[in-house]
Amino acid sequence: MIELLGLEPHDLTELVGGPGYRSMQLFEWLYQRNVQDFSAMTNLPRDLREHLATNFTAHIPEVAGAEHGIDGTTKYALKVGEDIVEAVHMPEEKRDTLCISSQAGCSFGCKFCVTARMNLRRNLSAGEIIGQVLLALRNHGKPHKFNVVFMGMGEPLHNYYNVMKAFRIMTHPRGLAISTRRITLSTVGLVPALLQLKSEPAIPNIAVSLNAPNNDIRNELMPINRMYPIEQLMSTLQELPVKQRQRITFEYVLLKGVNDSPEHARQLLRATQSVACKINLIPLNPDPHLPYQRPDEQSIDRFTGILSAGGRTVAVRRSRGPDISAACGQLGTQYIDPKRIPLGLVN
Ligand code: SAH
Repeated sequence: MIELLGLEPHDLTELVGGPGYRSMQLFEWLYQRNVQDFSAMTNLPRDLREHLATNFTAHIPEVAGAEHGIDGTTKYALKVGEDIVEAVHMPEEKRDTLCISSQAGCSFGCKFCVTARMNLRRNLSAGEIIGQVLLALRNHGKPHKFNVVFMGMGEPLHNYYNVMKAFRIMTHPRGLAISTRRITLSTVGLVPALLQLKSEPAIPNIAVSLNAPNNDIRNELMPINRMYPIEQLMSTLQELPVKQRQRITFEYVLLKGVNDSPEHARQLLRATQSVACKINLIPLNPDPHLPYQRPDEQSIDRFTGILSAGGRTVAVRRSRGPDISAACGQLGTQYIDPKRIPLGLVN
């Protein structure tokens, strides 16, 4: 049986055969109408429906668990093969945001992130990625404004092909028709993959997890910086074809006594001055597995004040679902294998 979820119109034509409009109808059923049962696809001829049912499958990842936070957040644990990944649905007055995973685990070893402690288990397929969106739309409906953020488990640019395939299905007018402006991909800053984005016809908004104001601190917190230091990252970002309104977002996890001083804020202003950007500060979401603390409100305010006085657009990210470990960097807590040392912590 061949899995169809995650395929684009041209793939479906190739696999299923027949005239192009038939595969477009199939494409619309799978995504736009969110129907994966072939027998319900009433505008397809009966023999085609039978052919599909005998040779193909279309599966949304199975829900292994769902936790509900007091703020309305739902965290899903989804079964993907042998592994579990998480997706987080966050309703708000004006929009809903869905945070999805691109990999089971992660190989980048950032020291403040819980998911890093799982190491990488595997890449998700495009179907497993788009399946998270279909699941959320089925359970929560599609509000007028629906944002998708690749900020769950994994490094999306480390699974480039499948992530971009899922992105194309999300934005396809006859797929989910989500505007590219409503999709954000967050990355540790993989320079070669960022360069590859330059040749794409359409790209999501880009958020970069900077998390440090200089190379010394970033080398320590994010091992990837030893390969692609801040200067190289910034010059790569300058070349990205982002529209004026869609400035790059820099995410900056505030860690008490590590990267939260006024001098760090001034260094951060300098480090980011060459890129049209906004800064999202994320006070650490603590976890017993992590050796860091969240700064107090006064230091957060002081840090924010220096950035805005320096002319940066800055926001402090209010954490959603902390009571169910659904906040940034908390995904995967219960899947940590204590015998495995995260790659980034080896040296
Ligand atoms: N790998 C990608 C996608 C994950 S996004 C990336 O790193 O960008 C997850 C975001 O949560 C990142 O911006 C990361 O810096 C932030 N984060 C990780 N651990 C955190 C923690 N313990 N508290 C707050 N934010 C955290």
